[in-house]
Amino acid sequence: MSSNQPYLTFYDGRRTPQLGLGTWQVTGDATAPAVQAAIEAGYRAIDTAYIYYNETEVGQGIAQSGVPREDLFITTKLWNNRHELDSAKSALQESLDRLQLDYVDLYLIHWPVPKEKMYLQAWEALIQMRDDGRAKSIGVCNFNADHLQNLLDKTGVLPVVNQIELHPYFQQTELCAYHADHGILTEAWSPLGQGQVLTDPVIQELAHQLQASPAQVILRWHIQMGHIVIPKSANPDRIRENFNLWNLHLDDAAMARIATLNKADGRIGPEPELFHVMKG
Ligand code: NDP
Repeated sequence: MSSNQPYLTFYDGRRTPQLGLGTWQVTGDATAPAVQAAIEAGYRAIDTAYIYYNETEVGQGIAQSGVPREDLFITTKLWNNRHELDSAKSALQESLDRLQLDYVDLYLIHWPVPKEKMYLQAWEALIQMRDDGRAKSIGVCNFNADHLQNLLDKTGVLPVVNQIELHPYFQQTELCAYHADHGILTEAWSPLGQGQVLTDPVIQELAHQLQASPAQVILRWHIQMGHIVIPKSANPDRIRENFNLWNLHLDDAAMARIATLNKADGRIGPEPELFHVMKG
């Protein structure tokens, strides 16, 4: 199935669908059908990670979809205990074997874990993976501006994308400005605030006015903000609903109202500077 979904172009010249399926907490038998439902609905991007323990099932869903590999955009991530150069390189191969793929479109360092002081070595490994073609593009998650600047200063190579927690309650304006200044695309994880933003009165009111669902209003906000966005759902109806955004438009007043929802304490997930879970 073709669709007129938007794509964004990385500074390395490659392009990504702007909307993809998130798969954290999509496990076991639910995974391949969710991936298939998404691809059937028109999604071409799927986001997984070693630590989601579902790469094998994501790979099955991809294989069963029948869509040519080159039309799909598959992302996976390097876990925190594999930052050492050789370990990182074998971690990607292990992910590829589970996914039954020869390459990923995007490989990301999952967390910087600055306490371990290893993310520069992981980044060197990702640069090599990009150069050998097993990762078409390389990026990071959960890096703050200092971590990004350190990558640039020490290796001269910036990530094409920084995947960060971002939703109407936690809009990360300063970090997004750093991204924009450096040609890095912003990818929003937990774009629905893990569901918590769906019941916000402003979102509910806009949904009513626009005859859309709250999830569609939030996702459309992300699209118009220029974020790559990866809502998770394991439910085929909601997977389809989350992709049905292309005729929806938020006017300047609606965008401005959502801008006011940002909260100083709006973060739901861990603080990246402090997150150092190594078990995997
Ligand atoms: P989301 O903000 O995507 O919210 C997911 C929740 O919203 C689920 O409970 C889902 O339930 C529900 N939901 C989805 N669509 C709808 C809808 N249309 N109506 C009502 N409820 C809905 O949270 P995630 O934390 O999963 O983030 C998305 C993705 O981001 C992850 O899956 C993962 O791929 C990535 N991520 C990356 C991180 C990183 O460190 N790099 C960290 C966290 C996430 P249901 O399944 O029942 O529909």
